[in-house]
Amino acid sequence: MSQLLDKETLKKMIRENVKTLYRKTLEAASAEEVYQAAVFAIRDVITDKWMKTHDEYYEKDVKVVYYLSMEFLMGRFFGNSLINLEMYDEVKEVLEELGIDYNMVEDAEPDPGLGNGGLGRLAACFLDSLSTLQLPAYGCGIRYHYGIFEQKIENGYQVEAPDNWLENGDPWGIKRNEYAVEVKFGGNVRAVPKGNGEYRFVQENYQSVIAVPYDYPVIGYGNNTVNTLRLWEARAKNKLDLKFFNEGNYQKAAEEELLASTMTDVLYPADEHIQGKELRLRQQYFFISATVQRVVERFKKHHTNFHELPDKVAFQLNDTHPTVAVAELMRVLVDENDVPWDDAWEITRKVCAYTNHTIMAEALEKWPMELFSRLLPRIYQIVEEINRRYCLELQAKYGMDPEKLRRMAIIADGQIRMAYLAIVGSHSVNGVAALHTEILKHQELKDFYELYPEKFNNKTNGITQRRWLLHANHGLAGLISETIGDGWITELTELEKLLPYAEDENFRRRFMEIKKANKVALAKYIKETKGIDINPDSIFDIQVKRLHEYKRQLLNVLHIIGLYNQLKMNPGMDMVPRTFIFGAKAAAGYRRAKLIIKLINAVADVVNNDPTIEGKIKVVFMENYRVSLAERLIPAADVSEQISTAGKEASGTGNMKFMLNGALTVGTMDGANVEIYEEVGKDNIFIFGMSAEEVQAKYHDHYDPWFIYNMNQEVRMALTSLIDGTFDQNTDLFRELYDALLNGCGGRADEYFVLEDYADYARAQWDIDKAYRDQTKWAKMAIVNVAKSGKFSSDRTIRQYAEEIWDLKPLHIED
Ligand SMILES: *Cc1c(COP(=O)(O)O)cnc(C)c1O
Repeated sequence: MSQLLDKETLKKMIRENVKTLYRKTLEAASAEEVYQAAVFAIRDVITDKWMKTHDEYYEKDVKVVYYLSMEFLMGRFFGNSLINLEMYDEVKEVLEELGIDYNMVEDAEPDPGLGNGGLGRLAACFLDSLSTLQLPAYGCGIRYHYGIFEQKIENGYQVEAPDNWLENGDPWGIKRNEYAVEVKFGGNVRAVPKGNGEYRFVQENYQSVIAVPYDYPVIGYGNNTVNTLRLWEARAKNKLDLKFFNEGNYQKAAEEELLASTMTDVLYPADEHIQGKELRLRQQYFFISATVQRVVERFKKHHTNFHELPDKVAFQLNDTHPTVAVAELMRVLVDENDVPWDDAWEITRKVCAYTNHTIMAEALEKWPMELFSRLLPRIYQIVEEINRRYCLELQAKYGMDPEKLRRMAIIADGQIRMAYLAIVGSHSVNGVAALHTEILKHQELKDFYELYPEKFNNKTNGITQRRWLLHANHGLAGLISETIGDGWITELTELEKLLPYAEDENFRRRFMEIKKANKVALAKYIKETKGIDINPDSIFDIQVKRLHEYKRQLLNVLHIIGLYNQLKMNPGMDMVPRTFIFGAKAAAGYRRAKLIIKLINAVADVVNNDPTIEGKIKVVFMENYRVSLAERLIPAADVSEQISTAGKEASGTGNMKFMLNGALTVGTMDGANVEIYEEVGKDNIFIFGMSAEEVQAKYHDHYDPWFIYNMNQEVRMALTSLIDGTFDQNTDLFRELYDALLNGCGGRADEYFVLEDYADYARAQWDIDKAYRDQTKWAKMAIVNVAKSGKFSSDRTIRQYAEEIWDLKPLHIED
């Protein structure tokens, strides 16, 4: 039992809360109401620790990292908070003693989808690790009223519905009116003489929005640290009222109200793709300006010398989305605090560090000068000045090389290149997996690596084992703790102690029983939600991630079609039954991705209802992939599909979650798959396809997908199935996919080398089939995967950021 709150007190609090919140008895309350009541009970415990943590940070004046991110894909708070407070078992027992199903209560919480995918989930895992490692930190972002859309599947097509996660209130967020700040947009800049021959630049005729922070607790595991996720919401500066009408300010007040009302409405749902929308740039400046102003205000409470700022503050830029922080910090230092430019620049560079997340051209942020200067006139001037000085440096170093200058300039071709501003304005530039960082250094950012070699470093991504094993997979977590103790919860490399147990028959049996139980539970859920019967003894082969051509869900489906065609020709074909499970949201405007979702569902309809294949293949598309669904799916996986075109996936973190839960990877040598391969060795992973170098060479080579079409019968038949009515009653629905693979329709034919890698993928899939038949061997391989997953804890990643980039020290908070 926890010392924090005994069971009887907890029961009483839950009863009382249901009464005061809903005027109901516990017996009459819904799961949703019990959930709210339980949150308010444990919030008490959290708040004490939370206040203590922040008092200590303030008193000891410690250095704090601000993780700046447009996205935080936190997942549900309730279960994870209980886990980290070590109150999970107790609360579960309390609810059950009250006659309430714990899982119903957990499921009553909306899953806050304030992110698109990997990048936002990484931010959430990092916050968990920061608190667990007792590192002083804030996550700073936006309190979107609507998170990533809810995906529904209608007639096989994705349909988007708004995600109103705040509908029933927000029991985790605390509104902090006292920290509201003003953020200014538009207008013009006037130079006002200071009297000493210098000028002060002031923005005038601007529109204002008030940024109001909501704070969410980020609880460390088994310690007293509670850090803060601070999400900013917009509010109008002036309420529309008669007073303004009379003063003739009605127009301005109306405009400001409109500006505020849309600012933090909705998350942009495009992953790995930039839309260049005005509102998006407004959102970026909104939360960055609010954060920077608050940070500098707080610093000034203890300090007068701004040269000490880098000893107290680190900004980590999660991709280029928060890059205006470089210019905003310059503005606050130079314009508002009279710091000379050169000093401010030195300070800014020491404070800021940039993480690159992608090399996909369509994801590189660029803003038109016209838009940028209109929205952020003073920030634009500052970026121009940064660029001017930087270009002088380039000239001093390289002489007059107009081509190189144009290539490397922050402002060129009428656009501001945010990645370059981030690199120039930071002391650290990191990639997110070893391969990705090498590609940055030697290809994408080669010029910058030559200019600033000392800035470049790698920080391979990680995931938190507290959510992805302890919370998501109680069975396996229990077996592991019973076998090697529970040290792995805060030191994941402890899992290596499991290695000898791969040879222990009893352990293997229990390990496989747990996997089986997870599969049975998922089969039941699939039956309930989709009405599809799946065989828990089949191989559960899962690909869950955003839908993107480079991630190659199309390769997976095409292979399923290939298998289906073989079974039609030879119904007796000897194969282990396989259940292919997909989950993926497509950006609303990404037509081809949406068509691939339709194809998966069309294939599922045909395959699942064809009695001649005797249930050897089942295909399930799980709708609305999100953190809480991932927690259900991943513990039940036998096979983890990580099949991106080599060189395209910066890291991936889904791959790590599967490995930690004992799934075997079928994957390319891409992103962190390369490091998974290094950890487990070639016998414990199924690698296929071209390497990143081979892909690079193929781009320059003459690649002709028709050659493969002609040579490989399985490929030819699978492609033909796309257009012969097998899956769409002759409407030519999937011809676009057929054409994209063979002819290119607009772009390059088979841009992601689906056909080139098909044969080797099919070979790897047969290797899996063969390996699975030997259950002893399979169990050993799966256990080795779990045992070797220690490297992929976000605790390891965050320790490296803290030591190598932030120079951040832990602070122990006493009880
Ligand atoms: C982990 C995670 C991702 C990232 O998956 P990748 O396979 O690395 O692309 C995306 N969405 C959710 C909900 C996740 O939990």
